[in-house]
Amino acid sequence: MTDRRAELGTDRRAELEAGLVAVRRRVVAACEQAGRDVAGVTTVVVTKTFPASDVALLASLGVRDVGESKDQEASVKALELAGLGLRWHFVGRLQTNKARSVAAYAHLVHSLDRRRLVAALSRGAVERRDAGGPPALRCLVQVSLDAEPSRGGAAPDDVPALADATSDADALELTGVMAIAPQGVEPARAFARLAEVAERLRRDHPGADVVSAGMSGDLEAAVLAGATHLRVGSAVLGSRPPLE
Ligand SMILES: *Cc1c(COP(=O)(O)O)cnc(C)c1O
Repeated sequence: MTDRRAELGTDRRAELEAGLVAVRRRVVAACEQAGRDVAGVTTVVVTKTFPASDVALLASLGVRDVGESKDQEASVKALELAGLGLRWHFVGRLQTNKARSVAAYAHLVHSLDRRRLVAALSRGAVERRDAGGPPALRCLVQVSLDAEPSRGGAAPDDVPALADATSDADALELTGVMAIAPQGVEPARAFARLAEVAERLRRDHPGADVVSAGMSGDLEAAVLAGATHLRVGSAVLGSRPPLE
């Protein structure tokens, strides 16, 4: 029985390694095309819906940045894998009542998209700091690039005020912007728009230079548009069960 399990484990490790190699090749090729240094692009492997054992295998393959979209799942994994030196990125829609929990383990929150979250995240970040944790919780303002609000994100016109509120909040560090390319819009166009929003943001907040854009299907367009962080799930881990 243990042999069978070990065998499965080995297969999964090889599968994940192949996924990582394939994504790495795509990122390198896109950087070459864009004339960018690969070191300027961080790939966050989005592990939502996959077991903690997969995340542990990824860590053993050199992955340091992992992304999750639900606090319920992320908080359990982060606790279980606390010894592995992983940096947890929260990329999903964030409910106000989960902000405190997320602040306890997140390295970077990608999905700050409304005023109420600023206060909630700040409270959590202050608690973490006062408990001896890092001085600040890094946050990206999520920008909506279409009129469809269900995927989250602040309207581009609302970004400056939300960014100011974030940077003024106790124990929060405004780090940049994030977006998901809307359905039915050419990713290159969406990411060009995000780049404009990011540039505008840097006028007021020069240190806020992170641009999180690009997933398995559109990472090349994101690299070409200047993304510093890619959020890649299925291209590394395989397809997720539907409804996520
Ligand atoms: C799931 C998810 C991803 C990864 O998507 P893939 O298409 O599997 O690469 C990236 N960003 C966010 C916000 C997600 O929820």
